[in-house]
Amino acid sequence: MEELKSKIREIPNWPKTGVNFKDITTLLEDGNYFKKVVDLLSEPLMGRGIGKVVGIDARGFLAAAPVAYRIGAGLSIVRKKGKLPFKTIGQSYTLEYASNTIEMHRDTILPGEKVALIDDLIATGGTALAACDLIEKLGGAIAAAGFIVDLPFLGGSQKLKDRGYQVRSLVVYDQE
Ligand code: AMP
Repeated sequence: MEELKSKIREIPNWPKTGVNFKDITTLLEDGNYFKKVVDLLSEPLMGRGIGKVVGIDARGFLAAAPVAYRIGAGLSIVRKKGKLPFKTIGQSYTLEYASNTIEMHRDTILPGEKVALIDDLIATGGTALAACDLIEKLGGAIAAAGFIVDLPFLGGSQKLKDRGYQVRSLVVYDQE
């Protein structure tokens, strides 16, 4: 974990004062670490009959797509409002530093399909929980959630665990 952490760039007070932004682009730029991230996120999902990996706009796509490929699942995307061309369902939520609405295509998850959710980072959990709500409204069964970074002091990963989801995070910070 410390090894992965050393590759993440921290940008203090971005995009606003008080947020210590965890920039994972520096981690993914290194081929060995990119592979390690994808392998570690894929490991707990292997052989579990997961039909779709759901990635969250936009940095979540960077991990969700290779994980889906690695485990032989399909890829579904959660996008910010107004970006998806077909019929959508939406959910509003509060982010650590903004408020937002996310959407999924109405036909992207099959009823009863096993789903794994992937994002780059979980903070308050607002984004991930809104995505879980959408997936469940579409009839999906959330088998697991995976994040490159967890900021557990903001409570998001615990909220997911409280809802009964299995959560895996690769790098954990104790404070901003
Ligand atoms: P939250 O909904 O509070 O769990 O925030 C998670 C989402 O916001 C993820 O999609 C992250 O990409 C982004 N995010 C929130 N806080 C940070 C942070 N400190 N560094 C980088 N990304 C963040």
